[in-house]
Amino acid sequence: MLTRRQFNAGLGAAIVGTSAHPALAAEYSGPNIILVRYGGGVRRFETIDPTGTYAPNLVNRLARRGVMIPDMRIEQLDDVNTSHAEGTLNLLTGRYLAYRDVGSGFAIDRLEPTEPTLFEYLRQSFDIPSHQVLLVNGEDRPQEEFFTFGMNPHYGISYRSEMLSLHRFKLFKVAQQLAEGDLGEEAQAKILQQRDDLLAADHRAFAPDQSPAIQAFWHDWRRDYGDDGFKNPRGDRLLTALAIRALGSLRPRLMMVNYQDPDYVHWGNASHYTRAISVIDDGLAQLVATVDADPFYRDNTVFVVTPDCGRDENPLLDVPFQHHFNTRAAHETWALVFGAGVEKNRVLDRTIDQSAIAPTIAALMGFEAHRSENRALAEVFA
Ligand SMILES: [Zn+2]
Repeated sequence: MLTRRQFNAGLGAAIVGTSAHPALAAEYSGPNIILVRYGGGVRRFETIDPTGTYAPNLVNRLARRGVMIPDMRIEQLDDVNTSHAEGTLNLLTGRYLAYRDVGSGFAIDRLEPTEPTLFEYLRQSFDIPSHQVLLVNGEDRPQEEFFTFGMNPHYGISYRSEMLSLHRFKLFKVAQQLAEGDLGEEAQAKILQQRDDLLAADHRAFAPDQSPAIQAFWHDWRRDYGDDGFKNPRGDRLLTALAIRALGSLRPRLMMVNYQDPDYVHWGNASHYTRAISVIDDGLAQLVATVDADPFYRDNTVFVVTPDCGRDENPLLDVPFQHHFNTRAAHETWALVFGAGVEKNRVLDRTIDQSAIAPTIAALMGFEAHRSENRALAEVFA
């Protein structure tokens, strides 16, 4: 028999059509998870190798706090692309090729998951509101706005995560500006055009709206940073700022931070890549310090830090670090897991497949990613 709360939750969902709570989901009491995508594709040499690293915090301090997996790999399969969206969806679904191309309006691939993501598994298993399951994204990657939920008919939008990105902030901002009125004809036309451009970036039209808690988050962000975009930090520093602010106000139980800037090496010289690694290293240190200083998160949080993909080693090319040539190095990643309930100061010295990340996070949080191709890594648990 249903309790009254469950009955009401189910009834509300049926009427509103945007279920916030699955009818039978349990209270969540497990650890919080911060999944840090060491993204934009990085090689082991410049990250976890002590002789070449630009990430001293990662190598010298954080590795001791947990289990380092130096030999994680993206499986060599036909059609597997060693790239950012693909690797990110491998991490979120625990599968390969669990996505489809939804077409491109911007000369970029836009993939959407065809299998459930960690966000959906979690929210189907536990009574957690959408604003406590967060994806923090870079400002010029609207293609990653699709990752908040997949197309699996048993999961999907009712169990989505919320997204924090400048893209989402701008959507909030133009809606506010239009609601505030008093713009004058020319300014109003400009803002309407801006809104149309933003909406055109997602064929799913961002339905449903950002939740009230997320809108309150953007309200405060706008108060502090204004409308023009000149005051807020940029690039991966912006992601750190968004994530730290979210930890303090939204209290996420699962948050993925999609760092990306090492990828600017596509356009420039190697220093773009190595400097970006240092910026992520510093951002990660700030995230860890924030968690360590907050009783809500301290001793009850696990960090999972891992790249989306590796990069090639092509010394003969002008820019030696690409990742589209399907070389061995582009398939080579790593992972570091540390925090509550995780072994300390351990190197897990065997080859681990990238598809193990999702089932391991699922096991840490107490649910099963049952569509994953892999199993949880038992060696991670203390
Ligand atoms: Zn790239």
